[in-house]
Amino acid sequence: MVTTHNLGFPRIGKNRELKFSLEAYWRGETSLVDLEKTAQDLRQTHWLSQQHLDWVPVGDFSFYDHVLDTSLLVGNLPKRSDARLGDVDRYFQAARGQSSKNLEQTPIAAAEMTKWFDTNYHYMVPEFDQDTQFQLHAERYLAQYQEAVNQGVNAKPVLLGPVSYLWLGKAKDDIDKLALLDSLLPVYEQLLIALADAGAEWVQIDEPILATELGSDWQHALTQAYFSLHKTPVKLLLASYFGPLRENLNLACELATAGLHIDAINAADEFVNVVDWLPPHKVLSLGVINGRNIWKTDLNSTLDKLEPIHQRLGDRLWLAPSCSLLHVPVDLEQETTLDTEIRNWLAFANQKLNELSILAQALSSGRQAVAEELNANAEAILSRQHSKRVHKKAVQTRLENISSDMAQRQQPYSERVGLQQKQFVLPLFPTTTIGSFPQTPAIRQSRRLFKKGELDQQRYHADMKAQIELAIREQEAVGLDVLVHGEAERNDMVEYFGEQLEGYIFSRLGWVQSYGSRCVKPPIIFGDIERPQAMTVDWINYAQSLTDKPVKGMLTGPVTMLNWSFVRDDQPRSVTCQQLALAIRDEVQDLEQAGVKIIQIDEAALREGLPLRQNDWQTYLDWAVFSFKLSANGVANETQIHTHMCYSEFNDIIESIAAMDADVITIETSRSDMELLDVFNAFDYPNEIGPGVYDIHSPNIPSVASICQLMEKAAQRIPPERLWVNPDCGLKTRQWTEVKPALEAMVNAARQLRLDV
Ligand code: GLN
Ligand code: ZN
Repeated sequence: MVTTHNLGFPRIGKNRELKFSLEAYWRGETSLVDLEKTAQDLRQTHWLSQQHLDWVPVGDFSFYDHVLDTSLLVGNLPKRSDARLGDVDRYFQAARGQSSKNLEQTPIAAAEMTKWFDTNYHYMVPEFDQDTQFQLHAERYLAQYQEAVNQGVNAKPVLLGPVSYLWLGKAKDDIDKLALLDSLLPVYEQLLIALADAGAEWVQIDEPILATELGSDWQHALTQAYFSLHKTPVKLLLASYFGPLRENLNLACELATAGLHIDAINAADEFVNVVDWLPPHKVLSLGVINGRNIWKTDLNSTLDKLEPIHQRLGDRLWLAPSCSLLHVPVDLEQETTLDTEIRNWLAFANQKLNELSILAQALSSGRQAVAEELNANAEAILSRQHSKRVHKKAVQTRLENISSDMAQRQQPYSERVGLQQKQFVLPLFPTTTIGSFPQTPAIRQSRRLFKKGELDQQRYHADMKAQIELAIREQEAVGLDVLVHGEAERNDMVEYFGEQLEGYIFSRLGWVQSYGSRCVKPPIIFGDIERPQAMTVDWINYAQSLTDKPVKGMLTGPVTMLNWSFVRDDQPRSVTCQQLALAIRDEVQDLEQAGVKIIQIDEAALREGLPLRQNDWQTYLDWAVFSFKLSANGVANETQIHTHMCYSEFNDIIESIAAMDADVITIETSRSDMELLDVFNAFDYPNEIGPGVYDIHSPNIPSVASICQLMEKAAQRIPPERLWVNPDCGLKTRQWTEVKPALEAMVNAARQLRLDV
């Protein structure tokens, strides 16, 4: 027999029930009882849809985030949270913070949020300081276990392992996080004993740090942790995922656990080694179904690999998705309007678990037992492999003919800058914005009706042009130097372009949790990318026709398009990225042809694509930067290329940022008090920079003085003639009543700065 199990199920609900229930509760419209009821219903539904598995995950459900759940479980919610609140409200307070309702109250800061390994999911960072003590708070966790048992589920509790928990946290007071392990382990031990008492046989314990580069201290901590947890009466299945184990492979095999799960998708060439290394008493769980993408698994070729392993391991072989299914949408069944040919190539969470059962049956009873399913799968795989919509000769020929000079500007920045200055005659400290202006209810309504077919194209275009005109008039009134059209026609910076490119498809309900109640619906890149026609030229042309000031063309870059989409698994990411780059390159050149002199190519997600291991960073950065340059650099010296990145960590990638060779880069800096520019300074970053002078996430209007102060700090680090003045990011989430005075302050500050120089 082959055992099947799942590492975790998406918790948001196939119609985002959890999101809506959470938000209603936070708005005070519903009670905690209502929220708990929704959560219970979701768990029940999710367990039901997994009951064909041998082991079903329990404890993977979360109101907000599983790392924050762990903090609650081990009694380590941030201390500043209000102790008078109940557990759930304290938990939400830690997640979301609390603004002060009156003057006596001090606001309570939310815990920090950061990326969960190399995914687009974000977790709440645990906090440690010299007073940190742990204490088990297992009531909710154990209650869920009981709930599952009562429902007749073969429950396998899931926990974030103690060493990864510490690794993911942030230590204050200069303490050594690892020193906390000794006091954390007893809490885990107690919990495991309580689970055993409640009847649990297997417990899945996740140590995703096994797929990262670990110092010997962390490796040793793992040894120590499992040496002591092993003594509890449960069987531990240690789970690693998201990447290969590499130098941690022996360690993972030898840790004192009853079983090991590995990501057989991202560590495909390792699993034979693991089979060799694994001690004979251990179970090996192979994550052979990709938990990070939405493609059907090639079941027959997977079986080709699994059958010999099954022969060697027999009952010791378990099968699972590569990682928790948190990162994929719930159910393809709902996608009734999706192109049927492409739909037949896809699998969401429910479908993936079904694939798992087919594989297990084929191994246990022979392929003929599931011949029909395997044939249908083979047909789908073949249809995708041979589809003309996926593989396009013209795109491939273009790709083969990419040469390195296509990614190179004609002259270096030092030569271009003079030509550009002559053309634009911009003042010192030129002012601009990042692209979007407020997305008002009227704009959203218009776009929605147009999409539904209830507003004809003519009316819709008239609406959008009116918005562009408004944006231009406002910018002129404020006195900005370089204008934008405002992006009213864009719902989302990736979706807008994806919808106009061939090779992209959009699901209706393919939501994936990003953090808390926030979800994203990543577009799906299924085939070779082609741009049938210009995507932005008419809008920018129209905007430019209204003013004598230069209007920036506004595009999303290839790396961001890639990193915020579900991508193909039949070619390297780098190849898909180059295809996107060629499509954007065509748009850049069309804009230039149309007389647009400044073109901004946003790469908001460039950093997000960094691989798990630092060893692999350079390879990624090389092709990512090349793709950006391929998209941007097919222009004349006089054309000014801008890029925008909204994050504040450049230390470790500054060389690649400089290699992008954008004439101007705008970045988020206001919250770092311009210290972020130190690294640009230290690196002698040669081109122009627009450090954000105010935080667009806040409704606060910056003062002229605060902007001047920030810019003076900037000028201590970057020569003034290379500085621009702009907000941190786009303004689409703000209101005009906030935007106008903020930009006025910005323009006034720039004027003052010019006088002072
Ligand atoms: N041009 C985009 C905007 O202003 C950039 C958004 C982003 O960086 N996330 O909205
Ligand atoms: Zn931004």
